[in-house]
Amino acid sequence: MSEGLQHYLWTKNCSFGQTQIRNSFKTQNLIEMPVDDEKFLQYHSRNLPLQILGKEALEDFRYERVTIAGVGGLGTVIAEQLAACGVGKLRLIDQDFVELHNLPRQKLFFEKDIGRPKVEAAREFIEKRNPFVEIEAIHTRLDESNAFQLLEGSSVVIDALDNFETRKIINIECYKLGIPWIFGGALVETGNVMSITYKENTPCFHCLFEESTDEGAPTCATAGVYPPILGLIANIQVEEAIRILRHMKPLLESKLMVISTADLSFEKIAVKKRENCPVCGKTPRIRRARGDSVREEIHHPVLGDITITGICGSGNFIAHPQQEPKWDFEAVAQKLLNRWEGKRIGKSVVRLLLGDGRRVQVAKSGVMTIVVNETVEEAIEICQEVLSVAVQSIEQERQT
Ligand SMILES: [Zn+2]
Repeated sequence: MSEGLQHYLWTKNCSFGQTQIRNSFKTQNLIEMPVDDEKFLQYHSRNLPLQILGKEALEDFRYERVTIAGVGGLGTVIAEQLAACGVGKLRLIDQDFVELHNLPRQKLFFEKDIGRPKVEAAREFIEKRNPFVEIEAIHTRLDESNAFQLLEGSSVVIDALDNFETRKIINIECYKLGIPWIFGGALVETGNVMSITYKENTPCFHCLFEESTDEGAPTCATAGVYPPILGLIANIQVEEAIRILRHMKPLLESKLMVISTADLSFEKIAVKKRENCPVCGKTPRIRRARGDSVREEIHHPVLGDITITGICGSGNFIAHPQQEPKWDFEAVAQKLLNRWEGKRIGKSVVRLLLGDGRRVQVAKSGVMTIVVNETVEEAIEICQEVLSVAVQSIEQERQT
């Protein structure tokens, strides 16, 4: 290969948008950053010369929160790559536990992690390798009752799920919150990516997939998934997220990327906004959130500091303890179900109905989603009441 061609490929590979990288190695970045951040600079020294990252981006990214819904074949790659690009806050949401068949594709997990919540094992792995990232591990199922609170406060949401139902919920809640999100999916040797920004004349997920359902659809369990396609899709989602964080136009806005490793084809299919879309169309049936967000801190004698967040007047709040409680969740769930009507959802969640339309979902991780009639005061009261019953079971455990 000639030197000229090599140079062309290098500059082509390093270009983005209309801008070509020139004079990439700006070593002065190393001098300008504050001294106490020396280790941070060393850690990211190979990112500093890049125009898409570089000093300015790394400084900004430390305060950005990206939420990843699903920590499986896509989510594990996405989480690790975002941390590698300097994103400071990652919120991981997944209800599953690590299983043996995850290990070939999901590189954040080891055999010793089998049976642990995926979000916990992923947090441990990434934090060991990256001391600059703050990870919220939310071990719960994302659904209609908690999506708004779980996604709130994110700069970007990345979908790493395996079903249409939850993606449709993300689409609605991100629309309400005005948060861009990146759809991604892979099966067998094919994968899709699309960025949804809700900007004027750009389509949302519903515009394209309204008719799609999970019923009878093949899954990774039945049809399989080729590990390389997962890496490709996840990395393209990361690229789009980085562009959004850098306030650049994502390349897959109004475009569905379809990739197949079977013939190494990369296609971008134009997608149009549907004027009558019930989510983003001219007369949407879904309202954008209004009202200010609230954030209250409470202190619990056993669980420590708990942050309660939500939107004023929405009646939906989420309580996050700073520390994961050391409790026997079986005993806690039983105690709560003796006191209130409700049911278990999987091994790690209990849902309680408190009357008058008020309900609470308590996860093993201590995170509570609270639906009340209106105010944050009501949510705080319920949080404390639920905790007092839950903590009774801890006290009883200690005495026996
Ligand atoms: Zn739409």
